[in-house]
Amino acid sequence: MKITRINVYQLDLPLSKPYWLSGGRLRFERLDSTLVEIETDEGVTGWGEGCPWGSTYLPAFGKGIRAGIDEIAPQLVGAEPHRLDVINRTMDTALPGHPYVKSALDLACWDILGKAVGLPLCELWGGRTIEPVSLHSSISTGTPDEMVEYVEAARARGYRMHSAKVGADIVLDIDRIRTLTNVFAATDALTFDVNRAWLPDQAIQVMNAVTDCGGYFEQPCETMEECLTVRRQTRQPLCLDESIHTYQDVVRAQTERVCEVIGLKVGRVGGYTKARRIRDFCVAMGLRMNIEETGGSVLADTAAVHLAQSTPVTHRRGTWLCHDMLTVDTAPGQGARNEMGQTVAPELAGLGVEPDLSVLGSPVASYGS
Ligand code: MG
Repeated sequence: MKITRINVYQLDLPLSKPYWLSGGRLRFERLDSTLVEIETDEGVTGWGEGCPWGSTYLPAFGKGIRAGIDEIAPQLVGAEPHRLDVINRTMDTALPGHPYVKSALDLACWDILGKAVGLPLCELWGGRTIEPVSLHSSISTGTPDEMVEYVEAARARGYRMHSAKVGADIVLDIDRIRTLTNVFAATDALTFDVNRAWLPDQAIQVMNAVTDCGGYFEQPCETMEECLTVRRQTRQPLCLDESIHTYQDVVRAQTERVCEVIGLKVGRVGGYTKARRIRDFCVAMGLRMNIEETGGSVLADTAAVHLAQSTPVTHRRGTWLCHDMLTVDTAPGQGARNEMGQTVAPELAGLGVEPDLSVLGSPVASYGS
């Protein structure tokens, strides 16, 4: 089986309401998503999606994915899509670095392999576990009272784990953390995600002021070095998210004992071939993971749910469904959806999601014949 054609689609994904991260420093209204369709000479077609969370969240942006695919795709035409390590080496040779560019292409090849052998992706990535995948909500930064309202709205939809976005103003942050803890800590699991907004001295002050609150803290500072300073002077469980781009980053985080949890965002690390290696390292080393995408429609989310579904339940924390915050649905009625705070990977072969072409429109680029 050989790749004959690669079609690239661009889609704007509006958020159902504006969203603030990092204490209001970063604002989001729509995402720029890239969907990839890979055709083969045996009639099997695979789909992938790459969608950074805007252009300010990571060193990644929607136009960058399509520019990168323009460099890589001609090298993949004629390649064998089921040879995933070979595909990834080809991509890394065609364009060193830029991992987020490659994720959609990698996923589309996995989808082809799953369809060809008649197995869902979770079976190829270690085997389906019986436990459903626990979901966490994503709570925009706001005043303490606004954030209580946002969590209440998520609870009404079944969520019992919440990633509350804080950062920027440490006096207000202590108020946010105390307020959310007082209202929800008895029944729900809370993560306070700082999205890099604090400097180490601020992180140490806030975290040590709320040691009685419990909860997890995520990416308090910009760099791994800064987060290590925080780790050494605080007690709460710490999650690294934006600092994790490569397998080597996770090895370093573990070697230096920077964190106990990582955010395994698949697009950021370059796709499922690479994410699965990181997942397996984390399982071996006792690091718990939030397994999810950086953004995207139900297509991207469902792939992440397959990886979570094949990860031991002991080693996964929450999975976030970006599509639950969008007004556009690329595959109505399909894929992994929120079912009162949980979901399961589809039973269909491959990814188990076929996007609605009427939603995607015409390709913005095509490679091959
Ligand atoms: Mg995060």
